Amino acid sequence: MTTAMRSLIVGNWKMNGLSGALAEAASIDTLAGELPGVEVGLAPPFTLLSPMAAMVHHLSVGGQDCHEASHGAHTGRISAAMLAESGARFVILGHSECRAEGDDDARVRAKVDAALGAGLSVILCVGETARQREAGEAKSAVVGQLAAALPQGEGSAERLTIAYEPVWAIGAGQTPAQDEVEAMHRAIRSSLVAHYGEAGRLVRILYGGSVSASNVEALVANAMVNGVLVGGASLTAESFGAILRSIAGSGRAD
Ligand code: PEP
Repeated sequence: MTTAMRSLIVGNWKMNGLSGALAEAASIDTLAGELPGVEVGLAPPFTLLSPMAAMVHHLSVGGQDCHEASHGAHTGRISAAMLAESGARFVILGHSECRAEGDDDARVRAKVDAALGAGLSVILCVGETARQREAGEAKSAVVGQLAAALPQGEGSAERLTIAYEPVWAIGAGQTPAQDEVEAMHRAIRSSLVAHYGEAGRLVRILYGGSVSASNVEALVANAMVNGVLVGGASLTAESFGAILRSIAGSGRAD
C-alpha cells in the first residue's frame, strides 16, 4: 500500500551561487508561499546558508554535506552543528559526488548519525552507477547502500528522506524509464518497511537525476515518487519555479 504524502521538492545548488543568487532564492521562496500544497527546500553552498535562512519564510534551507565529527582538526570541513547554527534544517548526505570523492558507506552512516544528533533532518542519496546498471546490479547496489546507512535510533525514520539518484542520470539529461523508477522506489520502500516497520511507509522517497520542467510531471505521476531532488534546474527561479508549478498543478500536491 502506498500512503499519499505531501510532495517535497529540494534544490541542490552544489558549488554554485554568490550573494547575487539570493535574489533567486527570494523569488523561489515567494513562489513556495503561493503553492502551499508542496514542500520546498534549497541547499545552497555553505557561504549562503546563513543569509538565505534569515531571508526565507516558506522554504527550508539545508546543507549539502557535513563532517561526521562534532569538531576538531578537519580543515575546510563543516560539522552538523555548524550547519544547524547557520539555519539549516536538513542536510543532503551520500550524494554521488561526495561518494565519488571518498565517502564510503561507513562514512555516510557516520554522517547520518552526526546530522541527526545535531537535530537536522537527512536526505540520504542512493543510486547505482552505469556499470552497476549494465551488470544488472542496480537494485542490489541501492539496497546495499540503504542497509549500510539507515539510522537505527528512536524517531530517526521521522527525520529521514531518501533520494534515489541513478549516478548515470545526474547532470546527463537522461532519466530511467518510468517502470525502472517505480521498481527502484518499490525496492527502497520495502527496505524502509523492513527496517522501520510501519514508520518506513511514511519516509518520503524522492527521485533525482536530470529532473526538469519537461519531465517532472511524468515522474511524479507515479504514486511511488514522493518528490524530486533537483540539481542544475534549481539554480534559477525560472527553471525551479516551473518544476514547482508543474508538481503543484499535477494533482500530487495536497
Ligand atoms: C543532483 O546532483 O542531485 C542532481 C539531481 O543533479 P541534476 O538535477 O543536475 O541531474
